[in-house]
Amino acid sequence: MVRKYTLPLCLGIFVILLTACSDTKKNENETAMNNPLLAEWTGPFGGVPAFDKMNIADLQEATEYAMEKHLEEINAIANNPEAPTFENTLLAMEKAGSLMNRVSVYNGIWSSNMSSPEFREVQNILSPKLAEYRSKISQNEALFQRIKTVYENSKTNPLPAEQQRVVDLMYQEFEMNGANLDAEGKKRYAEINKELSSLYNTFSNNVLHDEENYVTYLDENQLGGLSDSFIASAKAAAEERGQAGKYAITNTRSSMDPFLTYSTERDLREKVWRTYYSRGDNNDAYDNNEVVSQILKLRHERVQLLGYDNFADWRLQDRMAKNPDNAMQLMETVWEASLARVEEEVAEMQAIADAERAGIAIAPWHYRFYAEKLRRAKYDLDSDEVKQYVELNNLTDAIFYVAGELFNFNFTPITDGSVPVFHEDVKVWEVTDRTSGEHIGVFYLDPYARTGKRSGAWATQYRSYANYDGKRTVLGSNNSNFVKPAPGESVLVSWDDAETFFHEFGHALHFFSSNVTYPYLGGGVRDYTEFQSQLLERWLITDEVINRYLKHYKTGEVMPQELIAKIKKAATFNQGFATTEFLASALMDMKYHTTDPATINPKEFEKEMLAQLNMPEEIVMRHRTPHFSHVFSGEGYATAYYGYLWADVLTSDAAEAFAEAPGGFYDKELAAKLIKYLFSPRNAIDPSEAYRLFRGRDATIDALMRDRGFPVPVK
Ligand SMILES: [Zn+2]
Repeated sequence: MVRKYTLPLCLGIFVILLTACSDTKKNENETAMNNPLLAEWTGPFGGVPAFDKMNIADLQEATEYAMEKHLEEINAIANNPEAPTFENTLLAMEKAGSLMNRVSVYNGIWSSNMSSPEFREVQNILSPKLAEYRSKISQNEALFQRIKTVYENSKTNPLPAEQQRVVDLMYQEFEMNGANLDAEGKKRYAEINKELSSLYNTFSNNVLHDEENYVTYLDENQLGGLSDSFIASAKAAAEERGQAGKYAITNTRSSMDPFLTYSTERDLREKVWRTYYSRGDNNDAYDNNEVVSQILKLRHERVQLLGYDNFADWRLQDRMAKNPDNAMQLMETVWEASLARVEEEVAEMQAIADAERAGIAIAPWHYRFYAEKLRRAKYDLDSDEVKQYVELNNLTDAIFYVAGELFNFNFTPITDGSVPVFHEDVKVWEVTDRTSGEHIGVFYLDPYARTGKRSGAWATQYRSYANYDGKRTVLGSNNSNFVKPAPGESVLVSWDDAETFFHEFGHALHFFSSNVTYPYLGGGVRDYTEFQSQLLERWLITDEVINRYLKHYKTGEVMPQELIAKIKKAATFNQGFATTEFLASALMDMKYHTTDPATINPKEFEKEMLAQLNMPEEIVMRHRTPHFSHVFSGEGYATAYYGYLWADVLTSDAAEAFAEAPGGFYDKELAAKLIKYLFSPRNAIDPSEAYRLFRGRDATIDALMRDRGFPVPVK
């Protein structure tokens, strides 16, 4: 659903990380040529990244050189004396930038999987240069004129469908990024982007600082209610931090959430809650409130240069929602139902607290604890009991099984060391077609949490599919933050995390099933790209997966039918909380970007807006403003957080199609349509059109409301 923090790789040219440096000397060029981060990928499967040769000392040089080379290629295209055509302009752009593509992959690993103070130092140097480099492409006047000519010519002489879509989307992207501005406007536009890129780094580094540096240590007599596995990992986490004999509750969701759910130490629950929800908000050198103000002002100024009222209007024009009103309308409909549900949930929890004479009113730091009690009382469902049947290796086999049945993919472990990895915990598989044996790609899985790794779970691709110049196969990855077990121990996964595991694999399947000719069409549409991954979560609770893979980690016994029935019955449980904490963030995201930022003081604004929305005092935003990384550590999810809900409307609607199909969730005919229209084309077909081809009609909100146990609106 909405608990994920994903970063599917976008292939838009402005998304490529990194920039230009003009003072490179000749002998530096020669060194750069030998830089391992720039080297052509060698080894099997059309070459794989040399993750075993990564050295942070090479990053700055490699990046600067790659930016320079890419800009030379772009200039050659822009200044081509021949009349502009699809081939000599747009296709040529697709072919350019291979050095940047390679170095960006390594940069992404350092940024997300293996961050360090050394990396952050280089990143701070490179960010403004990268922003400048991107501006040099997006604002290259001669280049844009060529794209415009091809675009205008195609109005009278349409190109083949895929080429036409590349032209339409690229023209729009350039226009949205300031290509039509005059010289002065372009200059300011580029300056703004440069400033923003530094602010995004500051924002995310501040959050990471507060995640790494605020740790709550417990003594042995403070472990009441916690599971053995949680205690073991807290003990290991304390040892890792030089506090042997203590137990560390780290400041991440994967530590905070189970602690608040199970700990019987009321005061400590409040402390851990406050610590977590104060990330970036501690009135110190790492406070993000002023950073947010500056980001909002710069974003606003930038879209005003382009003639838009606000950032949201500008941003949503190429999304499925098209405009902020459509997104707000959906959110407000669900919000009302969600608030009504919270009231019921709180009343039920308060009754439990009163019955045990706890002497409390339900506060945010009590919510998870009493929700768990309510879950046990009302549904007799014990999350810890569920976990015993959800073991990580079995879950991994389960996703491969689903991929085999639906997508006809086969996953074979690669254990001969021919595919280098950046950490010993990372595992790799070759993906092939089950029938023909044809090579499809390589799947990397980085399952465990470590210092310097971003929290949450996400999917990315190191190389995307393309076919304009021979078949280029996919290198895709999933990344999670499970606590690494002691040798010989099992990783037991909560039901939520199991759904997330399926979710991220849905992104991977979306990568692997791509059949676009041009890489440009492999990019995701933000409010659509969570749909494929959310849909895949639905296969976790199919009988086929349960009977084969959800087995007790000790006895091997299949999850009992009564337990499954309880899980299904409890599916709508706590939806008030889940929907409200998510929607509060999504609504705030939209409010921030539809309001004049001159009037915004984030601390005040958050409070005022939430009060206007009647935000229940027992719940906080899932991501409060000063650590809302989706929105402020970059632009990927700015005015796009609603996209999870937008995509979930499609998810519920599509899942009903499977539930109603003769073969259920493994119906071959419907699976074939799913792949043909909703997975393989990526952005080669307009998403609304693609969905209609799959379903025979547009999606409606009804299935989503049913799934969450909310009343279906009367038309
Ligand atoms: Zn996702």
